[in-house]
Amino acid sequence: MRNALLAAVAALSLAPAAQAADLAATTLALRDKALTDTTAWDVTESLTTEVGARPQGSPGMDRARDWGVAKLKALGFENVHVETFETESWLRGAESAEVVAPYPQKLQILGLGRSTPTPAGGIEAEIALFRTLDEMLAQPPGALKGKIAVVTQPMRRTQDIGGYAAAVRVRGAGGEAAKRGAIAYLARSASTDDTRLPHGGGGFRAGIPMAALSTPDAELLERMAARGKPVRIKLSLQSTFREKAPAYNVVGEIKGREKPEEVIVIGGHLDSWDAGTGAVDDAAGIGVTTAAAKLIAGLPQRPRRTIRVVMWGAEEQGGSGAAYAAAHRDEVANIVVAGESDLGAGEIFSAKLPKGSREHPAMKAFAAAVVPLKVLVSREPAEDGGADVDGLKDLGTPVVQLQQDAGRYFDLHHSADDTLDKIDPRELAQNVAVWTAFVYAVADSDIDFRKTASAAQ
Ligand code: ZN
Ligand code: ZN
Repeated sequence: MRNALLAAVAALSLAPAAQAADLAATTLALRDKALTDTTAWDVTESLTTEVGARPQGSPGMDRARDWGVAKLKALGFENVHVETFETESWLRGAESAEVVAPYPQKLQILGLGRSTPTPAGGIEAEIALFRTLDEMLAQPPGALKGKIAVVTQPMRRTQDIGGYAAAVRVRGAGGEAAKRGAIAYLARSASTDDTRLPHGGGGFRAGIPMAALSTPDAELLERMAARGKPVRIKLSLQSTFREKAPAYNVVGEIKGREKPEEVIVIGGHLDSWDAGTGAVDDAAGIGVTTAAAKLIAGLPQRPRRTIRVVMWGAEEQGGSGAAYAAAHRDEVANIVVAGESDLGAGEIFSAKLPKGSREHPAMKAFAAAVVPLKVLVSREPAEDGGADVDGLKDLGTPVVQLQQDAGRYFDLHHSADDTLDKIDPRELAQNVAVWTAFVYAVADSDIDFRKTASAAQ
C-alpha cells in the first residue's frame, strides 16, 4: 500500500517533467517540418497573384477579403468569418511631378496616404529644400509661405526598425510644412534603395498635397538647389478620401482540445499599398502565421488552447487593430498572447518574449528549437507586438515580438518593387519555424504570461 502510494506520488511529480519533455520534443519536430513546408510560400504566392494590390476601401480589398475566407476554409480552419468595421480610405488617382525651371525634368513620386488632392490642373511653385527634418522644423511660421517644402533627409539601413522610425518622422511631417505656410510637401522616400521607384505610405492629414520623392530625385533636387537659382516644380496629385469606408478583419481558428476558450492571436495584415503587389508587406506575414497554425493543426492531436489567425484589414491606413480590440474587449482576459508578423520576409533574428517568461519550461522548449536557427532569445521583454495588436496590448494582453531582419525590407516596402520574387523561400520558412515553435509551446502548455510578468515585477 505504502509503495503504491509512493509510486503514485512519484508519477504525479514526474508528470510535469514528462509533459515538458513531450512539449520540447514536439516543438523540435514541428520546427523541422516547418523548415521544409511550403504553405507560407503557397499562401503568399496565391494572395499576390490572385489579388495583388489591396488598399483599404478598394475593390482589391474586397477581393482580398473573399480570398482570405476561401483560403482559410481550404486549409481546414474552423470558425472562419469576417469581422466588418469602418475606417478611413484614401485611394490614389493620377499623379505627376516635374521640375519646370531652371532645369526641366520629370520626377518620380508617389502621393502619400491622406494627401489632399491638387486642383485638376496641378499647382506650380518654388521649392524650399531642407536636408534634414529638423532644419525645416526650425523655420518660423510663415517662412514657407507659397512654397513647396522638400525634405531630403536620407534613411539609414539598419537590421531593426531604427532607420525606419527616423524616416517615418520625415514622411509624416506634411502638417509641419503646412503650419509654416507651405502649399505642398515632398519628402524623400523612406527607402534604403537607390532605384528610381518612390516608396509611399501613410501621411497625416495636413490639408496640403503630399508625396514621396524617389531617392535619386531627392538628390537631384539637392543638386539643383545647390546651384542657387530658384527651383520650380509642377505637381498634380489626384485622390479620393472617405472618412468611413467598410473594412474587414478575416479570421479562422484551430480550436484547442482542452481549453478552447483560451486563445493565441496571431496574424498579418491583409491590406497593402497599391504600387506593388504587397508581397513583403504583408502577404508574407499572412503566409507565415497561417502556415504556423496549419502545421500545428496537422499534429495527431490538437494543442490544449485555441490558435486564431487574424488577417487584419486596415493596417496601412489604420483602424484594424483598434477595431479588433474593441470587438474583443470582453474576451481579452482569455487571450493568452498576441503577435503580428509585419516586417517582411527576412529571417527572424531576435525573439522578445512576454515579460518574465524566459525560464518557463514552455519558453525553454521554444528557445531550444529556435536558437539553432540563429535566433537570439532576448533578455528584454516584448514591448511591441505589431500595430494590429497594439489595441489588445493596451487592454492588457501580453504580446510577443519575433523581430525580423529588416536589412532589405526597406528596399522594397511600399514601392512598386514589393513583389513575390523578392522573397527567399528559405528565409520565409525560417519565419514559419520560429512562429510555429512559439505558438505551439504556448498552445500546448499552461504558461500564463500575466503571471510571469507580475512575478517579475
Ligand atoms: Zn505592414
Ligand atoms: Zn506597410
